[in-house]
Amino acid sequence: MSGKNPMELLIPGEGGIARAAEILVGGGLVALPTETVYGLAARADSAEAVAKIYAAKGRPDFNPLIVHVSDRAQAEQLAVFDDRARDLAERFWPGPLTMVLPLREGAPVTRAVTAGLPTIGLRHPSHRVMRAVLEQTGLPLAAPSANRSEEISPTRAEHVTTSLAEDCPAVLDAGASQAGLESTIVALRDNGEWSLLRPGPITKETLVRILGPETQVENAGIEAPGQLARHYSPGKPMRLDAQEVAQDEFCIGFGEMEGDCNLSASGDLNEAAARLYECLHLAASATQPRIAVAPIPDSEVGRAINDRLSRAAGES
Ligand code: AMP
Ligand code: MG
Repeated sequence: MSGKNPMELLIPGEGGIARAAEILVGGGLVALPTETVYGLAARADSAEAVAKIYAAKGRPDFNPLIVHVSDRAQAEQLAVFDDRARDLAERFWPGPLTMVLPLREGAPVTRAVTAGLPTIGLRHPSHRVMRAVLEQTGLPLAAPSANRSEEISPTRAEHVTTSLAEDCPAVLDAGASQAGLESTIVALRDNGEWSLLRPGPITKETLVRILGPETQVENAGIEAPGQLARHYSPGKPMRLDAQEVAQDEFCIGFGEMEGDCNLSASGDLNEAAARLYECLHLAASATQPRIAVAPIPDSEVGRAINDRLSRAAGES
């Protein structure tokens, strides 16, 4: 035993939101439900609180955290918004879009949150429980996904408790996440350029329609260190675009390729995105030593699914 307290399981309707806010204001960690995946939250203005996130996840300190806000006014205290940022906020907030924007001078966030970068990643989530916690604390909350670094993202409270165990002192359980895939991350630079740092539920096609062509930047890797890392790993070999399945493989199916767990029998990419981590968790804990995944169309949110799958397979 490490001597740490066991995890506290909080329920929204039973005082859980108030208790979560109390822990967060006091500088503690709470895993919170969002519409994308469960996040491991801490107050963004406290170096001590944010250090607990990096420690619990085993996350490298050069990988910055997304800060969650309760409204646009709070966001504008942290970052400099231009017309494009206001337009995207208007269209997609609250929702699964993170904007990387210039950090405002004197913004009340500790340096570790941005990993020392001159930019900050901001998101206004739509999940009603997450919003209630943000409103009760009155604080911006740093919240990466609530799993150990490199492991599969959590879409249920049980995934959090399995991955983080006693390193996360409390989890607020509001059932399964709806979008089930991490937010789209878009960087808006002050020279007018933009780029997609992580594909997600808001598709590249949609962003191109609004912002015009994306700028290809050669140093995007440095700008978004988290994107380079091996990630979402199920801990066993995984084969993508499988046309047939071997006996010793757990099959993640799609459409007519049924599989042991089907992402979407009707071939609906949004349903597949919502079920991706559920199937990856099942594949990770299955008896089969290997995983095969059916081909997924590389359009719309399929791009984000394929991005996560190729990282999970260790291909990027
Ligand atoms: P997660 O840990 O799953 O929440 O992922 C957060 C992602 O946001 C990581 O890949 C980070 O690299 C990225 N991110 C957060 N803040 C910034 C920033 N200021 N600049 C670039 N990427 C960021
Ligand atoms: Mg993550």
